[in-house]
Amino acid sequence: LRSPCLLYHRRCNQTMTTQSQTQEMFRRAEAVCFDVDSTVIKEEGIDELAKFCGVGDAVTEMTRNAMGGSVTFKKALSERLSIIRCSREQVNKLITDHPPQLTAGIKELVDRLHERNVKVFLISGGFRCIVEHVATQLDIPLDHVYANRLKFYFNGEYAGFDDSQPTAESGGKGRVINMLKEQYGFKTVVMIGDGATDLEACPPASAFIGFGGNVVRPQVKERSLWYVTSFGELLKELEKI
Ligand SMILES: [Mg+2]
Repeated sequence: LRSPCLLYHRRCNQTMTTQSQTQEMFRRAEAVCFDVDSTVIKEEGIDELAKFCGVGDAVTEMTRNAMGGSVTFKKALSERLSIIRCSREQVNKLITDHPPQLTAGIKELVDRLHERNVKVFLISGGFRCIVEHVATQLDIPLDHVYANRLKFYFNGEYAGFDDSQPTAESGGKGRVINMLKEQYGFKTVVMIGDGATDLEACPPASAFIGFGGNVVRPQVKERSLWYVTSFGELLKELEKI
């Protein structure tokens, strides 16, 4: 297992080997990082926020285009937020009235990882205020949350977002994983997510697990050495030792 990310050349009959290597990485990971939108929670946080603020259709369309990857992540985020322009009050009300819906099995999986002394992180291109709410439900410490920060004026009006966060950039999830490896000295870090930005975080992640339990993105599925559609599959893998 010398290659940092089990990158493999599409030679015949290597698929099974590399899937089982990814599974082994997962069983012995020191840290597991989860994407949030459409992975830990069922929906895309920014689309829910847009809907709540009455600009759902416009923003959902832009999110879809953003995932096609023709504009930079930061530009796509900035453009969508300039349409949403949510106030602090609207964000708080979204969290109380429409709290993010956890994907089935995630609580059990995170609990199991914690029992095994695996560090669990949430790395999201979404918003910290929403992701912190998710982290609290999963007993994940808030300093294990990496996400974007919305900014508000004192009167609560939208004032932009903090564009210095690594998660505001294309390739930001990989930068966070590099930081974690440096800060904690992790050797084996596994990234789990549904999207292209999650897949691209490997390397530096040691392995990537594609998650299709909420939405299947064909280009991610095709490039994932191990692709699961439920967290039960990951729990089952942990039972093997
Ligand atoms: Mg996602």
